[in-house]
Amino acid sequence: MPTRIEEVKNFSVEAVTQSITRSLFAIGGGAIAPSDIPLLASKVAAWITSGPKRRDGQLRNIDFEHDFMRAQHMGPAAHSLIKLLCDVFAWRCREKGMATTAFLDFLVDPIIHMLAGRREYFNLALKRLLQNPADPTSVIQLMMDGPETERWFDPWAKYLRGLGVNFHASHHLTRLQIDRGKIVGATVKHRNGAAKHVDADYYVLAIPTDRIRDVLTPDICAASPGLRNFNKLYLSPETGFQLFFRDPLPGGLDFLGFNQSINEWYLALIGLSSVWDFDLREYGNGRAQGMISVELNYGALEMYPGDRYGKPMKELSKRQTLQEIRASIIKNHPDGRALFSDGNFAGWRNHPTIEWRNGWSVPDKRTASAPGTLQLYPKQETSIPNLMLASGSTRNSSGGDSMDGAAEAAKRATNAIIEHSGVREHHASLPYYGPPPELKVFQDEDDRRYLRGLPHIFDVVRPAARRTENYPNSR
Ligand SMILES: Cc1cc2nc3c(=O)[nH]c(=O)nc-3n(C[C@H](O)[C@H](O)[C@H](O)COP(=O)(O)OP(=O)(O)OC[C@H]3O[C@@H](n4cnc5c(N)ncnc54)[C@H](O)[C@@H]3O)c2cc1C
Repeated sequence: MPTRIEEVKNFSVEAVTQSITRSLFAIGGGAIAPSDIPLLASKVAAWITSGPKRRDGQLRNIDFEHDFMRAQHMGPAAHSLIKLLCDVFAWRCREKGMATTAFLDFLVDPIIHMLAGRREYFNLALKRLLQNPADPTSVIQLMMDGPETERWFDPWAKYLRGLGVNFHASHHLTRLQIDRGKIVGATVKHRNGAAKHVDADYYVLAIPTDRIRDVLTPDICAASPGLRNFNKLYLSPETGFQLFFRDPLPGGLDFLGFNQSINEWYLALIGLSSVWDFDLREYGNGRAQGMISVELNYGALEMYPGDRYGKPMKELSKRQTLQEIRASIIKNHPDGRALFSDGNFAGWRNHPTIEWRNGWSVPDKRTASAPGTLQLYPKQETSIPNLMLASGSTRNSSGGDSMDGAAEAAKRATNAIIEHSGVREHHASLPYYGPPPELKVFQDEDDRRYLRGLPHIFDVVRPAARRTENYPNSR
């Protein structure tokens, strides 16, 4: 990872290769076959310097693991590393087992933008990382000093209430009424069943793909045909559990994601109690000092059998689920056994996105970043002049449905309202989202090659597929 913008401007493939070799050793990747390093390095170098036309026309439409990285030709250790990246950052779609290469926009570009001073809100984190490059947890600590609910949402809600905003929680939008191309009202239903009519100047929908489909009736879609694209998007369950412990967590559990082997459960663990800046005993029954967040996606939930019971999680009882997670942590983490010894385990609970009714299910899904679908995410401005969209499942620059994507979408929806209504207000400011201009010379050259049907000049070992080669459920 570059630490100064000059290093980006003096980009060289040799530097990328050295950096990859160093990083692999730093993360204990000694098991990675030396013969895989040229392939990894050529891919990283090619991706960083790929042109906008190639990104839009090719990379957004192919699968990261097989079509781009060609991980099927790597040894098991390097292949697992690529899977780990996909599982943590890329929101594969279950049907195809694929994720677009575009998620890299959201991984590497922001670091270069930060170094160039274009992403102000990350600068503090970057300074912290540069002070202590060996300890990335210090950055996580800075960015997550407590639960989002307390640190972000409650103060934000208080601020908005102070400006006169009213929140009507526990109400669900059930219908929008349209007349002569404009929304003329909405029906919302309270949890107790009471329905209410809402009359507004502008309507902003910030609800996920699977829920918005219920509200987009044929008359609404006829007035704004782009909204039909919500039906073409794939969904992906993402969920998890919180595990509580009597004692503070051992040092090595600050942050840990692990992949057991290519087809086993993948669980991402974050030792949140070590990252958060407060004493957990102020919460709940006051007996827990340690807490681990366990996150998982459709692989563990629906596809792959766990070690102990030989079944995916959705087929396990609650007790079996806990046993399987426990066994997985003990097997994969050096401190795992101590964590569960001497009555240290104090309880657990599921994330609100997963429920157990004769088996686990995840009723609300994240929108998957499947190849070829990012272009289908509807724009915030619809063809209906007083209807805007503002969810992470709308067109954004972060490679899919994420918190950053949702924040960008909300700003774009706000700006659309300012423009439509003609009010004299400042627009919400949007950071620069394109590829880093420091690498423009390489990007322009790459786009020229792309238009001539040639692979990226650095993508020499096993060039990326021109279009997806379709590996059904290849995960
Ligand atoms: C376990 C997990 C881990 C994640 N980790 C990360 C991460 O590390 N980084 C990251 O960037 N993203 C992460 N995400 C994804 C991130 O949470 C979403 O991308 C983001 O919340 C999307 O924001 P949104 O406003 O579009 O939707 P949401 O935050 O899902 O909000 C939608 C809201 O709409 C409400 N709603 C639904 N239907 C209706 C209706 N008919 N009427 C009224 N309201 C309705 C829902 O109740 C919900 O409150 C994670 C998601 C999960 C589940």
